[in-house]
Amino acid sequence: MRLRNVKGSRETIAANDYAMHLPEEYESYKGRWKEFFGNENPIHIEIGMGKGQFIMELAKMNSDINYIGIEKYSSVLVRALEKRPELETKNLIFIRMDAEDIVKVFDKDEIDRIYLNFSDPWPKDRHAKRRLTSTQFLSKYNQFLQPDGKVIFKTDNRPLFDFSLEQVEEAGWTLENHTFDLHNSEFIKGNVMTEYETKFVAEGKPICRMVISR
Ligand code: SAM
Repeated sequence: MRLRNVKGSRETIAANDYAMHLPEEYESYKGRWKEFFGNENPIHIEIGMGKGQFIMELAKMNSDINYIGIEKYSSVLVRALEKRPELETKNLIFIRMDAEDIVKVFDKDEIDRIYLNFSDPWPKDRHAKRRLTSTQFLSKYNQFLQPDGKVIFKTDNRPLFDFSLEQVEEAGWTLENHTFDLHNSEFIKGNVMTEYETKFVAEGKPICRMVISR
């Protein structure tokens, strides 16, 4: 993804009540996220949330679920923060971090669902382990996802989707359902669009989606 540096974005995030950016802060909640939210509600996360359209919509719709949006780049996350105050909910927080370190943030069984939406494809073979659906990442998710938890992955990128199907099998996970054309499938009911999805659907691109569990 081409990134434009947004001046002052690091400072904006540092001063914002809806975001965490210091490892010592967000790692201190490992095993204590329910305490952070102040209730026993399930916790769903989106890794690579971008400007946050999807996760903010979900947080608005489902006040009985807590949401954590994770994004690597300040320049992108700051765009979500601009819209966050419009949401009068306490069930959403953002973390600026690289998901490589995600096991430092969540404890065993702490997370009920993981959303991966239009994740970066990392097309070169030597970068395959950086893909968020690689066996390396699935084994990280294994460490903090509830036993009946699910990972839900959407992409327009067919090679990445095919790679992910192989990784699911290799990791011994269960493919609960999948489609190569979400918007013309039975699974479209209740679908919440992401920013990238809105763009790709307008261009007529089919969207692939899988739901996996262990
Ligand atoms: N999910 C959004 C959507 O569907 O509109 C954004 C999709 S965008 C193509 C992918 C996002 O994932 C980017 O904002 C990128 O910075 C973020 N990202 C990629 N790798 C990441 C990682 N390892 N940790 C956290 N965020 C990551």
